[in-house]
Amino acid sequence: MTTDTEKVFSFIDTYAETADQLYLEAIIEACEHWLSNEGGPSLSESVSKEDIRRGIQLAILKGMKQNAQPHHQMTPDSIGMLIAHIANQLTVDRHNLTVLDPAAGTGNLLHTVMNAIGNGVTATAVEIDDILIRLAAVAAELLEHPVSFYVQDALRPMLVDPVDITVCDVPVGFYPDDDNALNYALMPAEGHAYAHHLFIEQSMNHTKSGGYGLFIVPANLFDSEQSSLLHPFLKKETIIRAVIQLPDSLFKSSTHAKSIVVLQKPSTEIIATPDVMLAKVPNMTDKRAMALFLQKIDMWATESE
Ligand code: SAM
Repeated sequence: MTTDTEKVFSFIDTYAETADQLYLEAIIEACEHWLSNEGGPSLSESVSKEDIRRGIQLAILKGMKQNAQPHHQMTPDSIGMLIAHIANQLTVDRHNLTVLDPAAGTGNLLHTVMNAIGNGVTATAVEIDDILIRLAAVAAELLEHPVSFYVQDALRPMLVDPVDITVCDVPVGFYPDDDNALNYALMPAEGHAYAHHLFIEQSMNHTKSGGYGLFIVPANLFDSEQSSLLHPFLKKETIIRAVIQLPDSLFKSSTHAKSIVVLQKPSTEIIATPDVMLAKVPNMTDKRAMALFLQKIDMWATESE
């Protein structure tokens, strides 16, 4: 039997393969066609937002393979689902949540998080690449996610009110705009700043007191060349709540390995500095180990709130 995810993928893929344009552009047109009720996959009554998100994601992955751009990689589902689980657990008792993704790309991570949080969540997505943000926007419409989109350099001033949760698969590397980087505490005295550091600073500037920043960062974040600037900044401006090492098997090589860092913006209600949870995600195909790991996360999140 064909699943709803397969039906969504097959509809977009058939449209895009016969279209006279770049596959990624054709995905946008296929989704617009679907939204206009002129066509679309015939889905079951029990179709979920996750089914639709996954179908679109499969098409985007295929489009990205044809038009590979290393800096535009979509956040893999294995990591997105984990971030979504943590975001949901940390906010179970909060309502009408606001979320920001300042490097939203295709929106896959943001939509995964919004699907996990469910009703009442609204979001802001910022992205510098025009095609990617159009993909994210059309997916948001199909998923009925209320998201405001901004095409801009997210390290420039953003017209975004502070949010409850910021999620970001941070772009890694040097940020070339030294003049703008001078507005950040994490600009080094010499040379270019790390974009991934500035994204953390900017994200926490746009997160409410007591709110959380969930970041996918290089695994060597805390012992890289510019980490001597990062350590005091994080100590002064944030509370480090968790550092979660992702399995090496998810990445091309150990030099590309990533971790999840959970930061909280200090508030007057947080009196004592809580312990930092240091954890390592087990092999994700080991269901028992993963269930135990998620139990540990859930206990930590309950204590955090
Ligand atoms: N989470 C995204 C997804 O699921 O598709 C993937 C994010 S990808 C790792 C990082 C993104 O940051 C890329 O899409 C890139 O275009 C964007 N980016 C890089 N520098 C940026 C900047 N200064 N302002 C806004 N976006 C930027």
